[in-house]
Amino acid sequence: MNLILLGLPGAGKGTQASRITETYGIPHISTGDMFRAAMKNETPLGKEAKKFIDAGDLVPDEVTNGIVKERLEEADAQNGFLLDGYPRTLNQADALKKALSSSGRTLDNVLYIKVDREILMERLTGRFICSNCGATYHKLFNSTKVEGTCDQCGGHDFYQREDDKPETVERRIEVNEAQTKELAAYYEEEGIVREINGEQDPDSVFDDIRNILK
Ligand code: ADP
Ligand code: AMP
Repeated sequence: MNLILLGLPGAGKGTQASRITETYGIPHISTGDMFRAAMKNETPLGKEAKKFIDAGDLVPDEVTNGIVKERLEEADAQNGFLLDGYPRTLNQADALKKALSSSGRTLDNVLYIKVDREILMERLTGRFICSNCGATYHKLFNSTKVEGTCDQCGGHDFYQREDDKPETVERRIEVNEAQTKELAAYYEEEGIVREINGEQDPDSVFDDIRNILK
């Protein structure tokens, strides 16, 4: 199963990605997570990406396409993958198509999670993440079952993303809006887009995804 999760920042891609990977056993490939790991380790890639991410802008396509191509060549991605946050531009969509076709692969579904802009602002500014396993929560809408303890790994340490500050959030939504629509149109031409109402609670969103993937 070769899948893309499409949707604006805050649509719930990461939240659904962990359910999808757990249920279907395919790796979750998030370019945002890859950049954050590189920034944390202060690698050359991380230092380059930081300049763009801190401003809410996109990292240049040449950089992003390179890391995804390499990741898709790894053994665990040969029997399926879930891309999250990639592609974000038409150039990236073309690069992905080339990378996949060079190894005889195609995409099966683009799961397009749709959520209104005002709701996204609320979601992103309240998001917090487990420092140990990366699980994503929200202080109002999707908190941990036991306060201060991660549901997935039992960790007690959480952080808020630098780029989830209100000033940056607005810019990120703006930067992504037109491109997300363009990408949806691009994949609609291929007939592989499935729209999902992302304004429901996380379990109902996942039920819809499961029905699509049946
Ligand atoms: P993305 O990966 O698309 O940027 P996330 O999965 O990180 O989005 O979700 C953004 C924020 O919204 C997180 O704080 C998350 O806990 C919360 N969230 C995710 N899905 C829902 C939902 N269906 N309803 C309410 N809040 C949600
Ligand atoms: P995300 O975790 O998907 O919200 O991504 C966080 C930030 O990483 C984005 O605001 C971008 O700056 C950068 N980023 C992630 N994925 C991409 C991508 N496919 N193309 C360009 N920049 C990206």
